[in-house]
Parts: sequence; structure tokens; C-alpha cells
Amino acid sequence: MKVCIIGTGYVGLVTGAGLAEMGNDIICVDKDQTKITELQQGNVPIYEPGLQDLLEANIREGRIRFTLDLHQAVQASQICMIAVGTPQDEAGSADLSYVLEAAKGIAQAIQKDTGNTYKVIATKSTVPVGTAEKIKAIVAEITDKPFAVVSNPEFLKQGAAVEDFLKPDRVVIGTDDEQASEMMRELYSPFLRTGNPVIFMDVRSAEMTKYVANAFLATKISFINEMANLCEKVGADIGQVRVGIASDSRIGPQFLFPGVGYGGSCFPKDVRALIQTAQSFGFTTDILKQVDAVNNQQREYFLEKILTYFNGDIQGKIFGIWGLSFKARTDDMREAPSVTIIEALLNQGAIVKAFDPKALHTAKTIFKDKIIYAETAYDAIGNADALVLLTEWNEFRRPDFDRVKTLLKTPVIFDGRNQYDAARMASRGFYYMSVGRAPA
Ligand code: NAD
Repeated sequence: MKVCIIGTGYVGLVTGAGLAEMGNDIICVDKDQTKITELQQGNVPIYEPGLQDLLEANIREGRIRFTLDLHQAVQASQICMIAVGTPQDEAGSADLSYVLEAAKGIAQAIQKDTGNTYKVIATKSTVPVGTAEKIKAIVAEITDKPFAVVSNPEFLKQGAAVEDFLKPDRVVIGTDDEQASEMMRELYSPFLRTGNPVIFMDVRSAEMTKYVANAFLATKISFINEMANLCEKVGADIGQVRVGIASDSRIGPQFLFPGVGYGGSCFPKDVRALIQTAQSFGFTTDILKQVDAVNNQQREYFLEKILTYFNGDIQGKIFGIWGLSFKARTDDMREAPSVTIIEALLNQGAIVKAFDPKALHTAKTIFKDKIIYAETAYDAIGNADALVLLTEWNEFRRPDFDRVKTLLKTPVIFDGRNQYDAARMASRGFYYMSVGRAPA
């Protein structure tokens, strides 16, 4: 099928590459000239495992191309997918300006087209309930040519996005238009050969499904973090408690890892946007407000542990940070806990040396010359007063602890992701503070 994707970020690029891999004819559009030029030269501007190879293969086969020309892309396509950003606005709602701008551009292209072919406009961006209706109204005002607006929320996880897109647990399509349903079913059928479902529903329910899924996952994280903090108070070990509850099939093990809170470009903004949606309908989401508050507190709580250890004075102290991205296997630092924690350390006069396997280039745009960028994990901790682990990258799992101990000025580790066995860390001679477990 012929598909154009508007917005070549984490979602748009993965979607484009995944659809091209199944033999579709894909045009990716962005308004960011630098991005498009890079992509046209075969360089992927973001890190996502497997994406570079997938794109290279499909560029070689001529199944995917990149352009700034929205009109040409729309006119050449049967399906137009909107995958632009929906960041948080000042009030906490989703800022729909990019989505609506894209919708307007699509409509103008459809109107200028000499043909009269039916088009499906699908929203992949995470958008509040009612957005498809807004898009429909905008497009209908500009053109009287045939089209349908479909909600097609994306559930991929950064760090495993390619795999998630190629083998989705489910595909959700919100539409009441039969022709659009058939076209979307045809588009996704190669991805669902293992029997995972395409779930058709009404548009509003599809829009809500994405937010409810993210809100539930965020709730699990805030819940386990709150329980972890309580475990510390009562002298229990959240690691053991987690294993104890996870074996209950009603609970399960997934998404119940305590840490420094969730970050990224989705959970924080989507939880807040859902709170705002509820408010605009005169409804209060008490649980979600607490999910957001607990998540913010979790970072503060971790910082307090660091400050308490240093008797409230970290002026001139050196912290070696392991991990900057909001989670492992991505270079994305949007709303990353590392940003809040590093800013707070700097504000109190500390010196920060940081290492991340993939996110150093992102960090440089955020912290500029305020921190020292290390080339290896070990470089980050030379002569440091403490190692602070903030992202669970595989390469931090089994470091050479003798080397770590020799490099640190004092053998102190604050582990925001519970990567190490507390008793073993104590026997190795470290002061080891993690989350939801007694210090060792
Ligand atoms: P992103 O910021 O990485 O990319 C968005 C891209 O859209 C940018 O390259 C930007 O230049 C481009 N853009 C903006 N307006 C445009 C326009 N009018 N025309 C052409 N290009 C335009 O965003 P992302 O992380 O890919 O997220 C996109 C959407 O998908 C968001 O709504 C997000 O909530 C949702 N989502 C994200 C993820 C994720 O893991 N990142 C997962 C599921 C859903």
C-alpha cells in the first residue's frame, strides 16, 4: 500500500521502517530540514536498536524515502499517518498544534490533488479524546473530497520499538468507516500472522485506550515505588516482596521494578493530559494525580538519601553518574529522572561527571558545559565521592567492582535502579544505597 507518515521521530521512523519492511511504499515527511537531509543520506538521527539496519535495507530496496514536501507525499498515498509530537502545554494538556497543523496540510494537499481518491488519515500520535473529530472538521472545511479519520494509537516501547512494531501485541483501530477499516486491516495483516488481534472500536474508545494503557503502566510504577519506600521504613526488602507478589498470576512480574520514577516522552505527559481531559469533563482523577505526585517525589526522595549521607553538604563533591537516558536502550532524555537529579546536584554546588552508552549527545544539548562528559563508565567515577546509577543499561550490570572501588575516592554507590545485590555490595566494602532496601 502507499502510505505517508508525517513526523519522523521515534514513532514515525519506526512506523515507516516497519511498514516498508512489509513491502509497502512509504514516504516519510518532516518539517525539520536537518532531519530529512540526514535521513536522505542514510543517517538515522535517533538511537533505537535495529532501526538503522531496517531503514538501510528498505532505503536500498527503494521502499522508503524522506521528504519535506507534504503535498506530494499526501497526493501519492492512500493512507496518511500523523505521527508528530503532542508535548505537554502549559496547563498540562496535550498540545495539539502540531497535529492540527499536519491535518491542515494534509487537507490542503488533498484539495489541490487533481484526482479524487479516497484517503484515510490515521492518528498515530497520542491525542486526547475528541481529536479525530477536530481533525475531521478541519479537513472537511478545506476539502470536499472523500476521506476518513481513523484513530490508530501506537503502543511501541522505546528501546524495543522495532520489535514491538513488527510483532505488536495488538493493533487498535478506531473508526466507524467500513472502507477505512478494510484498508487498515490490510495494512496491518502482515504483522498479525501469529494471531495477535486487530481490535476495531469506535474512535473515542481508541483514543482513550492509549491513555488508559499508559496511565495504568505509570500507576504500576508509582505503586511499586511507594511500596519500596514503605519497605525501607518497616525494614523489608522490596526485591523480595516483588518476587512474592509477582508469582500471583493476577499481579505478574512486569512493570513492577522500583527505581527513581518513570520518565520519557510518554508517561509523564500522558498521565497529566488524562488528568486535564478528566477535568475538562468536570471529573477528578484522584488516582492519577497521586501517580504523578508520587513519581515526582520519587526523584526528590532519592536525592534526599544522597544529601543525608553527605550531611546536607555536597558543595564541591564529585558525583559519577552512570546512565542519563530515561530508560535503557534509548538516547531519549525527555523528562528523564537524570535531568532532575543532576540539576539538583549542580544547584547545591556538586560537580557531575556523567556517562551514558547512547545519550551523551542528547545530554550535551541539555547540560551544555555544566557537567563533564565521560567517554567510559570508569572515566565517570575517577576520584568521585560517589557513583550514582540512574539508568539500567546492561553494561552497568556486572562492572569490575575492584576497579570501581579503586577509582572512587570513597566506595559509595547510590543505585536508583537496584542493579546489585545489597549484601554482596556490603561484603565488597561499599556503602550501598538502593531503593526499597536497607542501606548496606
Ligand atoms: P518526536 O518528537 O520524536 O517526533 C515528532 C516529529 O514530528 C519531529 O521530527 C517533528 O519535527 C515532526 N513534526 C512536527 N510537526 C510537524 C509537521 N506539521 N509536519 C511534519 N513534521 C512535523 O515524537 P515521538 O516520540 O515520535 O512521538 C510522536 C507521537 O507519538 C506523540 O504523540 C507521542 O506521544 C506518541 N507516542 C510516542 C511513543 C514513544 O515511545 N516515543 C510511543 C507511542 C506513542
